Amino acid sequence: MATSHPPAAPDDHTREPGPPDAAQLHDALHQGQLRLYYQSIVDADCRLVAREALLRWQHPQHGLLTPEQFLPLAEAAGLLASIGDWVLDNVCHTLAQWQRQQPATDWLVGVNISAAQLTAPGFCDSLLGCLQRSGADPTGLCLELIESTPLEQPDNNLLQQLNQLRALGLSLALDDFGTGYSALSHLQWLPVDYLKIDSSFVRNLPYTHRDRAIVEGLLELARRLEIQVVAEGVETLEQFDYLSSIGCFAFQGYLFDRPAESNPLMYSQARLTAAPCRPN
Ligand code: C2E
Ligand code: MG
Ligand code: MG
Repeated sequence: MATSHPPAAPDDHTREPGPPDAAQLHDALHQGQLRLYYQSIVDADCRLVAREALLRWQHPQHGLLTPEQFLPLAEAAGLLASIGDWVLDNVCHTLAQWQRQQPATDWLVGVNISAAQLTAPGFCDSLLGCLQRSGADPTGLCLELIESTPLEQPDNNLLQQLNQLRALGLSLALDDFGTGYSALSHLQWLPVDYLKIDSSFVRNLPYTHRDRAIVEGLLELARRLEIQVVAEGVETLEQFDYLSSIGCFAFQGYLFDRPAESNPLMYSQARLTAAPCRPN
């Protein structure tokens, strides 16, 4: 005989939590649930040359969420600007702390900024405010321009902002280069210091002729424009060896480390032994 179960009570603690919502994200911002993880960027000798700040949300029910899992929600809820301010403030404070602890090190920290954030009224002033409050040296900050919308070409407002920031010593990277709206035409007018090759071009290296042709072409282009190239998503020694052999400047990926919240000073000691570089 079939047994029928009564429907679960609304406060049944065994039911699945609903998806994160805008109110929770708003609370997260004010209740310290947002985190910045850092991932190393190394040169061909596995020396640390920079770190990238990557946003996470430590959600009370869903655990650690990546930006792709909650930035669309932030955009829909109109919270992108507040989250962007939180990120900049935190990155500047962390950078200032590292610069004070190790003044002889040329710290470089990459922070992801969308073109919409950059061109929003008051962005430069709010960034300057963060730098001043924290005491961070602006030469340690690299803005990684991420593109989710097409840019006007050239966008004079954006250009003006960027030139103003670069005059202070900040550097600029074009992120995810070659995908979405991160286009070749941007190199015609954006004052870029670094170009980050998207991981989709790195994934099948060195085995795919087409990917080798694209990456080698990009490196030649960057060399002529005097832009340094950083490869993203480097996961294997074969990728690293090949990219080093064709003159890539720096590398980021799980081969070296995963984004983490760990103490960077102790961490940089530890990674010398963990680095995949062979002895000379
Ligand atoms: P991104 O700036 O291109 O960051 C690199 C992404 O690749 C990171 O994902 C990182 O965790 C991941 N990654 C690193 N090494 C490897 C690897 O070897 N293999 C693979 N498969 N992945 C690797 P994450 O942290 O999930 O961030 C995703 C994107 O979210 C970032 O891409 C960036 O566009 C955006 N983002 C991150 N933090 C922020 C932020 O503070 N503000 C804004 N507006 N966007 C952010
Ligand atoms: Mg980035
Ligand atoms: Mg990228």
